[in-house]
This record gives sequence, structure tokens and C-alpha cells, in this order.
Amino acid sequence: MQTERLRIAIQKKGRLAKECHELLKRCGVKINFSGDRLIVHAENMPIDLLLVRDDDIPGLIMDGVVDLGVIGENELEEVRLERVALGEPNEYVKLRRLDFGGCRLSVAIDKDKTYNGPQDLAGKRIATTYPNILKDYLDKQDVKFSTCMLNGSVEVAPRAGLADAICDLVSTGATLEANGLKEAEVIFRSKAVLIQRMGEFDADKTALIERLLTRIKGVIQAKE
Ligand code: ATP
Ligand code: ZN
Repeated sequence: MQTERLRIAIQKKGRLAKECHELLKRCGVKINFSGDRLIVHAENMPIDLLLVRDDDIPGLIMDGVVDLGVIGENELEEVRLERVALGEPNEYVKLRRLDFGGCRLSVAIDKDKTYNGPQDLAGKRIATTYPNILKDYLDKQDVKFSTCMLNGSVEVAPRAGLADAICDLVSTGATLEANGLKEAEVIFRSKAVLIQRMGEFDADKTALIERLLTRIKGVIQAKE
């Protein structure tokens, strides 16, 4: 279903939301984010924003339901690998890596255990929200393991006796330390990215996307 207005999906609430609002504002897109709406219309450009959970953004793009999206590469890659495994649409165009949302996906283990490499994870149970990225990484190292899927509180899994190790997002490492864990292996480095659906765009939308991209480049360069 194509619309005349450019549809951009961004996270409604969370670590990417504020920076997305800021970026759009600096690009000259006027939006009133007050209220609790799923869709907000830009006041000065033919742009509609869809405010959703970040987990939904890769699928919305891969199914061609929205035109653009801002998403963490970790979430994007996890959904892509899941869709590849299921044989579902999994393509997108990466327009630009952005300058926020930086984090890494790492395996962490008990701080008192030694770690000599991925082989030490063989036969272990690893709690994670990112089973597909983890499997992709450890398959390449030829390490067999099992997972414990958790959508939250991953870092308490070892202490709770649910898993031997975890694979979770890290930015400072403070959460790991607070839970008696240490970072053993970085498996994926992530930032927020601007992505586009596959397929054709009419001339007006193409021009608008070009204009937005130019402005985004300018905004990022101005901060460097
Ligand atoms: P939602 O309610 O939209 O599902 P969420 O709880 O899944 O939100 P957030 O915690 O808001 O997600 O994180 C969104 C993204 O921010 C992450 O997927 C990641 O790309 C990025 N990020 C940056 N730093 C961190 C961090 N320290 N911990 C977690 N995510 C981070
Ligand atoms: Zn999420």
C-alpha cells in the first residue's frame, strides 16, 4: 500500500527515540511529538512518522510497509537472520550509519572464570535476546552451544542458575560488573542506521529522500 507521504518508522520510546527526534528537528522537519499517537504528521513536509517498538522496525521495512526506518544494527541483523532462516522477506537498503546508539553485543561470563576463546563456550547454555546473531557467530567458530531466550533481565540469568553465560548489549560495562560478570567476547558492534525499503519510489519521494539524506550528512558533519 503506497502513500503519497513518506513514511518513516522510528522507536516510540527508548534509547533511540530522543536522538531520532533531535536528528529530524535538525534536518528541519517540524513535528509535534506530544500525545500518545502511533502516527504523527510533519507540519512542513510530506512526511508521516510511525512510532513503534524498535523490534517491529526491521520487519516493517523488509515487508515494504514503510519507506524509511531508524534502527540499531543489532536489532536489524537479528531480524534479518531470523527471516533468512524462515524464508521470509529480509532485504533492505542501508542509507546511512548514524552517530548515535553505539553499543556492542558481547558474551559475558562469571567474573572469576577464565576465558581463552570461543571454544570455552562449547556445550554451555547462553542466555540472550539475540539467538540468531549469537548462533551465526558461534557457528562460524564451529562452537556448539545451547541458548536460553530472554527478552529482559538477561544479566541475572547466570546467578539465577538459568544459564552459564549471557550474550547481551553492553555500552559501559557497569551492568555486567554489577551482576558479577565480565565481558569475554565482542560478537557484534552496533550503531543506529537509516534504512530504506526495497522497490521503486516516485520522483517526489526520491527527491525528498535525497534532500533528507543531504541534511542528515550536514547535521552529522557539523557535530564532528
Ligand atoms: P522497545 O520498547 O522499543 O522494544 P527496547 O527496550 O528493545 O525498546 P532500548 O533499550 O530502547 O530497546 O534500546 C534500543 C537500541 O538502543 C538497542 O537495540 C541498541 O541498538 C541501542 N543501544 C545503545 N546503547 C545501548 C545499551 N547500553 N543497552 C541497550 N541498547 C543500547
Ligand atoms: Zn525492543
